[in-house]
Amino acid sequence: MPGGKPAGVACPHLDADNLCSLHGLAERPRVCSDFRPCADTCGSSREEALQLMTSMEDLTSP
Ligand code: SF4
Repeated sequence: MPGGKPAGVACPHLDADNLCSLHGLAERPRVCSDFRPCADTCGSSREEALQLMTSMEDLTSP
């Protein structure tokens, strides 16, 4: 996405099963390849991860 992905917008590379369509490909952004999941950011479920991401986006919004 030119200018970066806005907060609250899903990545355009997610497929219908919410899996990364770029996984394993050179086109996958380095920030994604370098990310290591942890409880602080991912919680223990998809719902908890979305809540944590929304909270982090709210806390860092301009
Ligand atoms: S890993 Fe990165 S490129 Fe893949 S779906 Fe997630 S945010 Fe998008």
